[in-house]
Amino acid sequence: MRSEERIACPACGGVESTAFHDEDAIPTNSCLLLRDRGEAEGYPRGDMTLRFCLGCGFIWNARFGAKLSEYSSRYEETQGFSERFNDFARDLAKRWVEKHSLAGRTVLEVGCGKGEFLEMMCEAGGGPRDRDRSERSS
Ligand SMILES: [Zn+2]
Repeated sequence: MRSEERIACPACGGVESTAFHDEDAIPTNSCLLLRDRGEAEGYPRGDMTLRFCLGCGFIWNARFGAKLSEYSSRYEETQGFSERFNDFARDLAKRWVEKHSLAGRTVLEVGCGKGEFLEMMCEAGGGPRDRDRSERSS
């Protein structure tokens, strides 16, 4: 894919964009519970070309294949079962609250999944809280 191609931005419809990163044959899902390593290694892969819209600043994968994304009962977005990951996330939340002076301020995480990181932000002093309501309505 060439950067000079005129491809409509999915956010604004503008056709002035530039490609800035390509990857071929990369994993298309990071949140699926697969049976074993063999199934994971054999799972379909997809390609990515990241484009930047000069009109609105939106960045998207121009080679995104919706059919390669699986949202099923095997989908589990949390990494909260890992104490190592939780230690990392708690430290990150604490650093962000301090770095961005979030103590006592409203924190909104769009696409927060189960809201685990948002809870960590609040525990680290960020708050009062708000959260993505998509999980509650399903
Ligand atoms: Zn745009």
